[in-house]
Amino acid sequence: MIAVDGVRSIRYPHSNAAALMTFTIFAIAAVTWAALGETCPYCAAMDGRSVSTGTNFFRPDGAEPLGFRTDIQHPPIHGGCDCQIVPS
Ligand SMILES: [Zn+2]
Repeated sequence: MIAVDGVRSIRYPHSNAAALMTFTIFAIAAVTWAALGETCPYCAAMDGRSVSTGTNFFRPDGAEPLGFRTDIQHPPIHGGCDCQIVPS
């Protein structure tokens, strides 16, 4: 799914999954969460956090406010999330 946000940007939610796959193939040891664009408080809190490649940033616990129900190894974490993962 591609979300179009006015004329500012076109977001490709699956690009971070492809990036993670590429980092794994090239044995990048760790990835860092990079908040971009108009950052919400949740994404701002994630900015700069690093995990070993393939490790979850979040585990599903249903806790509020975002209530994840799946493992989160990369952005987006909500609709309109502009975040990216980058090699550490
Ligand atoms: Zn975000």
